[in-house]
Amino acid sequence: MKVLVIGSGGREHALVWKIKQSPRVSEIYCAPGNGGIADLARCVPIDVTDTAALVEFARQNRIDLTIVGPEASLTAGVVDEFENSGLAIFGPTSKAAILEGSKAFTKQFLTKYQIPTAAFKLFDDAKKAKKYVAKQGGPLVVKADGLAAGKGVIVAATVAEAQQAIDLIMNQKAFGDAGNQIIIEQCLTGEEASFIAFTDGKTVLPLPSSQDHKAVFDGDRGPNTGGMGAYSPAPVVTEEIEHYVMDHVMLPTIRGMAAEGRPYKGMLYAGLMIDQGRVNVLEFNCRFGDPEAQPLLMRLENDLIDIIEAVIAGRLNTVRLQIDPRPAICVVMASGGYPGAYQSGKRIKGLKKAAALAGVEVFHAGTKTVKGHVVTAGGRVLGVTALGETVIAAREKAYQAVSAIDWTGCQYRHDIGEKAMKHTKKKEAAAVVG
Ligand code: AMP
Repeated sequence: MKVLVIGSGGREHALVWKIKQSPRVSEIYCAPGNGGIADLARCVPIDVTDTAALVEFARQNRIDLTIVGPEASLTAGVVDEFENSGLAIFGPTSKAAILEGSKAFTKQFLTKYQIPTAAFKLFDDAKKAKKYVAKQGGPLVVKADGLAAGKGVIVAATVAEAQQAIDLIMNQKAFGDAGNQIIIEQCLTGEEASFIAFTDGKTVLPLPSSQDHKAVFDGDRGPNTGGMGAYSPAPVVTEEIEHYVMDHVMLPTIRGMAAEGRPYKGMLYAGLMIDQGRVNVLEFNCRFGDPEAQPLLMRLENDLIDIIEAVIAGRLNTVRLQIDPRPAICVVMASGGYPGAYQSGKRIKGLKKAAALAGVEVFHAGTKTVKGHVVTAGGRVLGVTALGETVIAAREKAYQAVSAIDWTGCQYRHDIGEKAMKHTKKKEAAAVVG
């Protein structure tokens, strides 16, 4: 089989790495790819939203299967174009990807189908939004309706901060048209988790739980980013919570989308807030999480191509997932200054030493190769991912690999995996007391 992967991040490097292990695949292409992906696949310089050029490339090169990484391709309608051209592709249509493309749609959908989510109000007028915020009082969450690379959500502790957020999104148009409408939402507390599943529109097949780390600094401080690290499993998602999420979130969503005339196929990712066993949906994503894909794909033992084919053929009910029981942790190494302004073109040292460690994979995100050297070329640069017998072992290995790598101005969080360790310690203490 010839496979095309669309995207250029750590998620796509992990996808390409996983597909490369399939005995069924003879050639992999990636559009546009990155410095790390280039070692495993042929990178082709096509933009992820250039649907016409992607279809043309797939036709000319007789691609058997295309796998979409980023949300921007989905909302641009790449799946629709491929399907209309009779080409096999994995991902939801643009009509279905509205679950990620419009937070206003999703909040109304969640309410209609009685899926638990924070109380909210929609606004398309900044003045009215500010008045509402003043009456409501902080803390509140202000969200741009459309796609904003994971940065369109501002958790405002006070009325003044919420009003600044409204200005930023609606008046200064920091996220362009994505900010024509905003959602003002009740601020929830608790622990977040990512619930990511394959679905063919009828069956929902969940991957193990995982947890992202959105804030840029240790202790979940600082502005939100695309994600600074992840681990799987997330102990906050107990078996009981998993059942609840399947019955009260995932299945009602798939059924609801079908009822809305927006049948959903691909990956469905529910971002959850869990507080003392109570679950609320914060958002949906219509693709693998980045960086959650890195630890999840390291734990997945099935041939990914088999699962994807079953999704496309509508026979996901025949698939059983095989998962490596060992936990995995991914630490994102980013350019200094990210998610604000940062410099690129810094030479990355120590990649070979880190990759030589057993159980470690260094997935590239913002990198490129210049004159034989790998240099930084984005905000998030690497996703250093390790499997270990325990969370502690996986964490030690991931950070051992991180400390072998360096470039001028590199930054990363030092506390990825600590929340999982806290849960494990609590469980052990309870077992001793019991
Ligand atoms: P979203 O893109 O909607 O998942 O929001 C990005 C991040 O903002 C989430 O991962 C949370 O950390 C935070 N967030 C979103 N909605 C809320 C909320 N209602 N209460 C507290 N934090 C939130």
